[in-house]
Amino acid sequence: MGNPEHLFYKWGGGMDPDFPRIRRAYDEFLVTEDGRELVDAAAGAAVVNLGHSVPGVADVAGGQLDEVSYLSLSHFSHDAPEELAESLATAAPGDLNAAFFVNSGSEANEMAFKLARTYHRETGNPHKNTIIGRWQSYHGATLGALSATGNTTRRSEYEPMLHGWPHVPPAYPYRWSYDGTREEQAIAAARELETTIKQEGPETVAAFVAEPVSGASIPAAHPHPAYYEEIRRICDEYDVLFIADEVMTGFGRTGPMFAMERFDVVPDMMTLGKGLSGGYAPISATLVRDDVAAEFENGSGQSFAHGHTFGGNPLSAAIAAHVVDQYTDAVLETGRQRGEQLVSELASLREHPIVGDVRHAGAMIGIEFVADRDTKTPFDPDLNVNKRVYDRALEQGVYTYPGSGSVDGIAGDHLMLTPPLTISEESIERVADAVIDAVEHVAETVAPNAAS
Ligand code: PMP
Repeated sequence: MGNPEHLFYKWGGGMDPDFPRIRRAYDEFLVTEDGRELVDAAAGAAVVNLGHSVPGVADVAGGQLDEVSYLSLSHFSHDAPEELAESLATAAPGDLNAAFFVNSGSEANEMAFKLARTYHRETGNPHKNTIIGRWQSYHGATLGALSATGNTTRRSEYEPMLHGWPHVPPAYPYRWSYDGTREEQAIAAARELETTIKQEGPETVAAFVAEPVSGASIPAAHPHPAYYEEIRRICDEYDVLFIADEVMTGFGRTGPMFAMERFDVVPDMMTLGKGLSGGYAPISATLVRDDVAAEFENGSGQSFAHGHTFGGNPLSAAIAAHVVDQYTDAVLETGRQRGEQLVSELASLREHPIVGDVRHAGAMIGIEFVADRDTKTPFDPDLNVNKRVYDRALEQGVYTYPGSGSVDGIAGDHLMLTPPLTISEESIERVADAVIDAVEHVAETVAPNAAS
């Protein structure tokens, strides 16, 4: 028998050595071995957008397992990935009509980066290789995706990166120091991309990748729509592809089906994961605009030499196709309403001495903790404010998204809430009560003179 100590089970530097053992899960609830019922206010990892164990998925999965679960899509075709591709093309904004299937958000981004290179080769720009990312972003754990990632905590252990790609400042209005109106600030921030493209040399830049609304690194931070309008202009001017990483924001998380719809801007590629299958199977996708995809089809005729063994397998594709159908207007509307309810129940935190910012987009809520509200000075990272809040909320029966700690004094500690879109109003109340209690409790320890 293997020694459990040596199973790489508690990966990711887990936050608590005694993780609760979960026996089963349903709707927004996780039931522990000892019978406690936790509210899953993180939806797994912003994955289980429809809730746990929803009826219908098991029938689809069982039926597909009986019929055919695996085929190599390099040599066969099948209805399930085709139907999924079609429904994604219908749901996605603009002409994002070509779909490539892989297995994780990281792989979807890797794929987008390689597709960007292929596109530029095919259009006679073989030196356009560089991907520009943003600081305090997350695009995945694999070394290419990590090179585009700007979260320094995630990167630091693995330096040097595979690619020394540049980064521009994040879309983080709370900490911007640009002058002018919100719109002018947004345009100034977007122009950092133009400066970086010029510095790198436009003939070397393949793509810009960004989370439309930021995820775990600076939860729910998002700019005035003028930011993405300006990003679109810059990308068009310098022939740089714009990749929207919608791995976390896709499928209703921020209100509309996809977060880019909030800004009314169509990216050249969109990467999807998490909510695509709602956690019922591992699958992710890279969507590509028709005119970009046409360059692969009409170009040199060389195939795009990229594939993963399990990419688009019928089992995952059938499950995802079923799940995507469940994101009806009514479900998206419920998600928006529950997001509104949660931020309004958390309103008292806006004035709390250790809270610098409470922001949200749909059912994605970010709370930023600061040692000083006037100067926005983050807490000392060694105080582990985010972990303390997380631990206390868990004690109160609410699982929050394990947040990110204070990063290099640039950003404060954060707590993120991403409940299932279908969570009940009563559970939202439980979440709000537990989070307020946790913030009060932690404030007494880390800022005893400031506690309200
Ligand atoms: N992009 C974003 C925006 C993400 O939030 C994540 C996962 N948290 C990823 C990419 C990576 O996805 P995966 O963990 O499925 O590889």
